[in-house]
Amino acid sequence: MGAGFGGLAAAKALAGSDVPVTLVDLNNYHLFVPLLYQVAAAALSPADIAEPIRRIVADYPDIDVVMGKVAAIDAETKSVRLTDGEAIAYDRLVVATGSTSTYCGHDEWAPMRSR
Ligand SMILES: Cc1cc2nc3c(=O)[nH]c(=O)nc-3n(C[C@H](O)[C@H](O)[C@H](O)COP(=O)(O)OP(=O)(O)OC[C@H]3O[C@@H](n4cnc5c(N)ncnc54)[C@H](O)[C@@H]3O)c2cc1C
Repeated sequence: MGAGFGGLAAAKALAGSDVPVTLVDLNNYHLFVPLLYQVAAAALSPADIAEPIRRIVADYPDIDVVMGKVAAIDAETKSVRLTDGEAIAYDRLVVATGSTSTYCGHDEWAPMRSR
């Protein structure tokens, strides 16, 4: 789960070891987060720091990419459920969905992130 730095590294490390890998991310692109400030400063365009996940793993035939938001994990049945209702079974699950931001006591700033 997650095609950020952690998820991509895990998927690439597992690929080629006879393990089919399914990489699920809510976006169809990997965001190079450390250069976000360059986009904010208009020094780069958003497309410069976002690359399609399928292109990044194109040389890894064992990796299947699914675009979807994971809504729930069922550890008993070993499956994750996406918001569109699809269920994906797993043998081993790597959770690499990143973290949430802290606004240093200014939670009113949080909605500005999605503008
Ligand atoms: C502005 C900024 C600058 C930074 N600069 C640096 C730097 O210079 N050097 C450095 O080492 N680190 C830097 N960092 C920190 C670095 O970006 C993070 O440590 C790193 O991105 C964490 O990787 P991750 O794979 O854990 O999570 P992320 O890279 O955040 O990836 C998480 C992925 O999970 C996906 N996801 C989340 N929820 C779901 C869900 N429910 N279902 C499906 N997919 C989901 C997201 O779409 C995302 O693709 C910076 C961070 C920021 C915000």
